[in-house]
Amino acid sequence: MWTAIILSALAMTAIVALRYLAASGVFALVTNRVRPGYHARLGQQIRREIGWSLASAAIYGIPAGVIAWGWQEHGWTRIYIDWNAYPLWYLPIAPLLYLFAHDSWFYWTHRLMHRPRWFRVVHAVHHASRPPTAWAAMSFHPWEALTGAVVIPVLVFAIPIHVTMLGLVLLIMTVMGVTNHMGWEMFPRRLVHSRLGEWLITASHHQRHHEEYKCNYGLYFRFWDRVCGTDRGLSPNA
Ligand SMILES: [Zn+2]
Ligand SMILES: [Zn+2]
Repeated sequence: MWTAIILSALAMTAIVALRYLAASGVFALVTNRVRPGYHARLGQQIRREIGWSLASAAIYGIPAGVIAWGWQEHGWTRIYIDWNAYPLWYLPIAPLLYLFAHDSWFYWTHRLMHRPRWFRVVHAVHHASRPPTAWAAMSFHPWEALTGAVVIPVLVFAIPIHVTMLGLVLLIMTVMGVTNHMGWEMFPRRLVHSRLGEWLITASHHQRHHEEYKCNYGLYFRFWDRVCGTDRGLSPNA
C-alpha cells in the first residue's frame, strides 16, 4: 500500500512539474516574440523562479497524489465520473464554486501575507520577481506553496465535481497563474475593459499588485478587492 501511495505522490509531483515547465515555457516563448527584451537581464531571477516553482510542484503534487490514490482505491472525495450522477445544470456550477472558493481563500491569506512580519518569511520570495515573468507562476516560498496546495484537496472532499470539470479548474488555474505574471495582457482590450472584464483578474491587474504591493490581492475575480476597497485598477505597464 505504501509503495502505491508514494508512487502516486511522485507521479503527481512529476505531472505538476511538467505542467509548470510546459505552460510557463510556452508563454515565455510567446513573451519573447510579443515583448522582445522583456526577459533581458532577468536570467538570474528566472533561474530562481524555476527553482522555487519546482519545489512548489512537490508541495502541490504530494497531497494531490495521496488523494488521487485514495480516490482510485477507496472512493475518497466527491469527484464523480458518471455524467448523470448530478443534474446537467450543475456541471458548470461546480467549477465556478471551486474558483470562487479558491479566490476567497487566496485573497484573505494573501492579505495576511502582506503584513510586514509574515511578508518577510512567507511572501517575499514571490515578490522578489521584479518584474515577474511567466516562470514566476509557482515561485513561492514553501510556506506559501503549502497554503495554495491545500485548496483543491480540501474542496474535492466538500463540493461534488465531475472529473472533466476538475480538469477545467486545473487548466484555468495553470493558465491564469502563468499569464498573470508574464508582464503583458493577452486578452483583447474589449474584454478587459468590458463590464465582465471589470470583475476578472488578468495580467494587467496582477501586474499592479507586483508594482504597488498594497492593492489588487485577488486571484481570479476582483470581487473581494472591490468589496474591501483594495482594487486600484489595471497597471498601465502591462
Ligand atoms: Zn504574483
Ligand atoms: Zn503579494
